[in-house]
Amino acid sequence: MDIEYRLQSAAGGYRWVETYGKVVTRDKNGRAERFAMTHRDITEKKLSDLEADKQRRLLGFINHAQNLFVAQKDLQLACEQIFPELIDLAESEYGFIGKVHYEDDNPCLHIYAISDVSWSEETKKQYELFKQGKLRFTNLNNLFGHVITSNSPVIANAPRKHLASKGTPQGHPVLHRFLGLPIKQFGKAVGVIGLANKAEDYSQNDVNFLTPLTDTLANLFRAVEVEQARYEAEQRLEYLASTDALTGLMNRRAYFNRIQSLTDSEQANLCICIIDIDNFKKLNDTYGHPAGDSVLKEVARVLEHSVRSSDMVARLGGEEFGLILDSGEEQQCSQILDDIMASIRAISIETEKGRIDTTSISVGATLVCRSTQSATTFFDLAMKEADDALYEAKRQGKDRYFWHHQMDTDSPESNQQVAAVTH
Ligand code: GH3
Ligand code: MG
Ligand code: MG
Repeated sequence: MDIEYRLQSAAGGYRWVETYGKVVTRDKNGRAERFAMTHRDITEKKLSDLEADKQRRLLGFINHAQNLFVAQKDLQLACEQIFPELIDLAESEYGFIGKVHYEDDNPCLHIYAISDVSWSEETKKQYELFKQGKLRFTNLNNLFGHVITSNSPVIANAPRKHLASKGTPQGHPVLHRFLGLPIKQFGKAVGVIGLANKAEDYSQNDVNFLTPLTDTLANLFRAVEVEQARYEAEQRLEYLASTDALTGLMNRRAYFNRIQSLTDSEQANLCICIIDIDNFKKLNDTYGHPAGDSVLKEVARVLEHSVRSSDMVARLGGEEFGLILDSGEEQQCSQILDDIMASIRAISIETEKGRIDTTSISVGATLVCRSTQSATTFFDLAMKEADDALYEAKRQGKDRYFWHHQMDTDSPESNQQVAAVTH
């Protein structure tokens, strides 16, 4: 028989004991008569074994955290998944992991993992917020905030007596002991691990033990920032590549990409228009190129404000714009085009060479119903129809829109009767 167990010593604390027992003599029936037992104090060995075991667990756990992050690229998910093990390893009851964020230059803690200790409707809502990745602690004038402001660990085994303590909110689980560990980058606290209620006092040993973890989290935080910066740069490039610099509208490339990515249901019934500013060359010649640019910007602004979120508008190049209205109703689209044309006629721009107040556009429009053709063929055809209708609008005197289906007649006379919608 060989057992190991813990005894509470009279001096306080625990001693580990190993007891070894053996039967020395037996009677003739084989029953034990005499035992020999030894008791050994194995506290030192046991503690160092436990320590080594904890170290092994910690390293495995850190590895796990890194692998989770690399695989999922999601810091909150990685923190959440390792969190129960952290609480267990730190022999604590509850805690959190937070990263410093700035809101209008004020530091706050974005929570990446937290024990669910909700005790009221309000704190339940906070936990829900956390689940959505939106929980932030904005008040850092307290025990855990002190970790950030003092840039050092906070060991508080009698938290209420700690200088930085502001107590706990009503209903909060009792806080017997608190350990706050800074997560540091280049010597500056950029996050906190908060741990509560270890059965024994927290000590510098706990701080030392968990340092490899705080170092790892610092690296993961850095990785998130690098990833975020890369993502933002990519978004910026994508924006620049898809936006017309002068007007801020979608450019031709983005417009055609969007058209190609429309789902079948989205392209069921649409009105496709090409818009061209009338006599723009003359306007440039009369008022100068910068004035022409101002007109382009104003026309873009009118188009942007006249369409709904399900419509699309783009500058296709020069003084030509593309417009897709999310409707197959000719009357409804005509109404929108009437409004657009009226707003454009109302454009008034003061220049050094006089006031520009005669801006007008011509529009070629066509209604499309999704057929079995591929999206590209389908829109190529629709753009060609809109372009033909635009040509007809110009031919008939500009400042008007023209529907492609109105072109289906050979007679120039009947064409004149049905075609132009002038103002
Ligand atoms: P129409 O009424 O038939 O459309 O005639 P138009 O003069 O509008 O058309 P045209 O194609 O002859 O001229 C278009 C002009 O648009 C020529 C070009 O200098 C000008 N343009 C193209 N891009 C820009 C730009 O970015 N800024 C300015 N200010 N002008 C531009
Ligand atoms: Mg043109
Ligand atoms: Mg033009």
